[in-house]
Amino acid sequence: MSNYVERCIELCKQKNPGEVEFHQTVEEVLSSLTPVIEQHPEYEEAALLERLTEPERGVTFRVVWVDDAGKVQVNKGYRYQFNSAIGPYKGGLRFAPNVYPGIIKFLGFEQIFKNSLTGLPIGGGKGGSDFDPNGKSDAEVMRFCQAFMTELYRHIGPNTDVPAGDLGVGGREIGYLFGQYKRIVDKYEGVLTGKGIPFGGLLGRSEATGFGIVWYAEEMLKANGEDMKDKVVGISGFGNVAWGAAWKLQQLGAKCVTISGPDGYIYDPEGISTDEKVAFLLELRGSGKNICAPYAEKFPEAKFVAGKKPWGVCQDFDVKVDLFIPCAMQNDVHMADAENIVASGCKFYCEGANMPTTNEALVYLMDKMTAVGPAKAANAGGVACSCIEMGQNAGHTVYQHEDVYTQLHQIMRNIYNACAGAGEKYYGDKNALVQGANIAGFEKVAEAMMAQGLV
Ligand code: GLU
Repeated sequence: MSNYVERCIELCKQKNPGEVEFHQTVEEVLSSLTPVIEQHPEYEEAALLERLTEPERGVTFRVVWVDDAGKVQVNKGYRYQFNSAIGPYKGGLRFAPNVYPGIIKFLGFEQIFKNSLTGLPIGGGKGGSDFDPNGKSDAEVMRFCQAFMTELYRHIGPNTDVPAGDLGVGGREIGYLFGQYKRIVDKYEGVLTGKGIPFGGLLGRSEATGFGIVWYAEEMLKANGEDMKDKVVGISGFGNVAWGAAWKLQQLGAKCVTISGPDGYIYDPEGISTDEKVAFLLELRGSGKNICAPYAEKFPEAKFVAGKKPWGVCQDFDVKVDLFIPCAMQNDVHMADAENIVASGCKFYCEGANMPTTNEALVYLMDKMTAVGPAKAANAGGVACSCIEMGQNAGHTVYQHEDVYTQLHQIMRNIYNACAGAGEKYYGDKNALVQGANIAGFEKVAEAMMAQGLV
């Protein structure tokens, strides 16, 4: 690691005390940039990394709403506008009880590189709240979203900052947020993405993240002489990302044998191989209970393993998995899980959720496996389609499903090629996709920041 990189990692830790998730991603990204930083001494003179790790702006605000029992509730709201060098800030909103600045900054920082990798003109930002939509009524969610937008609206706009969904923010929340924005500003504009289809949403956006991940993983396999057909795949989560991934895996003839929730994991030896099973994931999510156990009640061939994650499925059952894709949330895969994955003989690992692997486990997997796909590249299909939605809205038009899928598939191939190309160029290895993604995402942003002067 170069001295400059090391200093910037330390500085970020000092300036953002206790924000461990943010430290984790900054350490992971910056440490892999060393070969580029060494070729560009002018970056240090321009304090490029210090600027990259400091959000351009961050707002924290109070969100006051009244629950169904008439009690006044107070939550925290956040929006961190990280980097606008290549386009308006773009990134989702996360509503979850564990949200605090460390989570929003980690997501916002990752978003800079992810959005750059899409090849589209979008900067990086992220926001959210410690509000927990689980177990809330529709009316409570609406009142919360209206209160949240009553502050957020002044910081966003179709050419300024365009939020979208993330954990806890899906179509329902985006609908309420959009309605309130429109009511306040009295303008019909594409200020949010992931909207419902009747009011400017993009056909294919819901499944875009999951589809994109599987297309990216398919490129990883192909580059190593394999394909997706008949592969046995283990995924975690059962939300929007897992659903899209399971659906695309089914279409490509792979067998997705696991999903998971906070309650444990499901092993389905026959795979999530029918439309009915794929659709049931949506039902699970829609139940608002945040548990996956009902899958095994509905499909008795499946087994529910309480309190465990799917990374030991090969040890728990007699099954060989070819590809693991964590699709739940950050730090889902720790060192002991990584050891299970490697011990099972699995050769491919592709991150679906944002930062699902601890840094220690990631380094181990990169060392032991044939290829490891990083989240900021593999899950960029969601935000890429968000940008297509922005274009659709700005052009007052409607794109068809097939147009979106064709574009998304090409974008995912381009992202894979950019990662593999940078891996090859700087690390002499086309499978150095983790480092390659960081470098390929960074190069474009760095060039734009240098050209725009000290801002
Ligand atoms: N939350 C998603 C992500 O992590 C989507 C962001 C967006 O569409 O703006 O990329």
